[in-house]
Amino acid sequence: MASQHQNGGRSPELRHDPVTNRWVIFSPARAKRPTDFKSKNPQNPNPNNNSLCPFCIGNEHECAPEIFRVPPDLNDPNWKLRVIENLYPALSRNLECPCEEKQGMEFPGRVIGGFGFHDVVIENPVHSVQLSDMEPREIGEIFLAHKKRIQQIMSVQSIKYVQVFKNHGASAGASMSHSHSQILALPVIPSSVSARLEGMKEYFEKTGKCSLCEVRAKELLIDESSHFISVVPFAATFPFEIWIIPRVHSSHFHELDFEKVNSQLLVLLSTNRIFYFAQIFKF
Ligand SMILES: [Zn+2]
Ligand SMILES: [Zn+2]
Repeated sequence: MASQHQNGGRSPELRHDPVTNRWVIFSPARAKRPTDFKSKNPQNPNPNNNSLCPFCIGNEHECAPEIFRVPPDLNDPNWKLRVIENLYPALSRNLECPCEEKQGMEFPGRVIGGFGFHDVVIENPVHSVQLSDMEPREIGEIFLAHKKRIQQIMSVQSIKYVQVFKNHGASAGASMSHSHSQILALPVIPSSVSARLEGMKEYFEKTGKCSLCEVRAKELLIDESSHFISVVPFAATFPFEIWIIPRVHSSHFHELDFEKVNSQLLVLLSTNRIFYFAQIFKF
C-alpha cells in the first residue's frame, strides 16, 4: 500500500516494531554514501586511494561541517583529529519536532521523526594509519573527543541515548577505509540497552550485587590494568567478543578522567593486537 510509511521522502524516521520490540532507523540518505572499498574482502582492509578520500588532510572542503578539531585552532592546517557532521547521516539534526509521534497510522507500529545527531570522528590525518598503529597518547585523544562530543550532545533534552562505535574494514560495515569512528545520538533508548539495564536490575534485586562488578572469573580474563579489565563474556554471542569493564563501579563513558583513559588504552591496545593476529592467522 502506497503511503507515507514507505518513506519515499528525504527525512529519516524511527519505526518501532511491536513484534520484536526494536526501534529501526529508516534513512534514505544512507543509501547514497560512497565507499572506497572495492569489495568486502578482508584481505584489502585499507585501500590507499587517499587522493579521493575526503577524510585525508587537505581535503577538508569535501566534508560536511566541522564540529571541533584537535588542536582546537581552526586556522591550524596540521590537525590531529577532527569531529565532523556525517555527510550521509542516519538521523537528521534539523528536524523541528523531534519526538512527536505521527498520528493516523495504517500499520501497527509507532513512528517518530528521525531527529538525532550522527557525527564522524576522523581519528588521524593520514590515510594509511590505523588505530593499531597509533601511540597511546593519540588513542587517548580519540577517547577524549568522544567524551567531549557526548557532553555537548547531553544538553539536547530530546536525546535519550548516545552510541559511540567503530567499524573496521568493509566486512564490519565500514564504507571508508580512513580510520574513523562514529557517534550516533538517538531520541529513543534501543531495546538492547533497556534489556541490559533490566537484566542487571533483576540480578541486583536477587543478589544485592552489580553483575558487571562481579565479573572477575580468572578463566574469562584477557587483560587488566589499574582501572579496567577486559574479559570474554560468559555467554559470548560471537567469536572474539570482548568486554572492557571499569574496575570502579561507573555508569557513564563520559565520566572517565584522563588517567582512566590512559589506563584503558593498555587494555584496548592488547585487545587490538588480539584482533590483528586473529585477522592475520584467520583464527
Ligand atoms: Zn583518507
Ligand atoms: Zn558495578
